[in-house]
Amino acid sequence: MTESVPSILAVGAHTGDAEVSMGAVIARHARAGGRATICHLTLGEGGHPSKPPEVYGPQRQEETKASARILGCDVVWFPFADIGFAGGPECLRMLVELIRKVKPDVVLSHWPGSLHSGHNHAGDVTLHAVEVAGFRNPAFEGEPHRVKAVYCPENWEDPFHFVPALYLDVSDVIDVWEKSCLEHELFQGAPFFPYLQYYKGAMSAHGARVRCRYAVGLAVPPVYAPRKVEILPF
Ligand SMILES: [Zn+2]
Repeated sequence: MTESVPSILAVGAHTGDAEVSMGAVIARHARAGGRATICHLTLGEGGHPSKPPEVYGPQRQEETKASARILGCDVVWFPFADIGFAGGPECLRMLVELIRKVKPDVVLSHWPGSLHSGHNHAGDVTLHAVEVAGFRNPAFEGEPHRVKAVYCPENWEDPFHFVPALYLDVSDVIDVWEKSCLEHELFQGAPFFPYLQYYKGAMSAHGARVRCRYAVGLAVPPVYAPRKVEILPF
């Protein structure tokens, strides 16, 4: 592990969210020597057009294990049901205790402007957990841990008022990202959305904007936007 590379906790509402929208960020940091963990709040088991949840859920779990091996990160799954996921106090408790256990410098989350209610709940409970994890409270296990920064990578379902605040050059890991995504049946040609076309295209467009081949656009939730610097970054 390289101390100058921040450790990351990436929280996705459904399996696949973290890999497709945050995976290139994770791969970039893993290649630089950083440590990362993906937390899937649900298995996304309700999203297949024909496979029942009891079949698709375990399949998705195996897909995320394969993805994590390729990205070079750890992976955990929370036991919440996909359909109807609404965050809630048990999810908050589990996230607080996970943050205190893995001690991330940076948390990646859903942008709080989604057309998917599950993503909005996931983003809300994650920001809440980041806040609570930093304070002493006997209701939660573990020592307080303060996360230093929260970023929301672009997600096609979280578009409202999404404006990137910075762009991460992921040109050297784009193949790793694509390989990890292709472990998921969902990204091998879902009939309802061309995931890889969208994300690779968006990363290509962002890269053109900042003069590299591929870049991930990341927004900062308003509550985490204020930042103290000693001199203006340039
Ligand atoms: Zn999702």
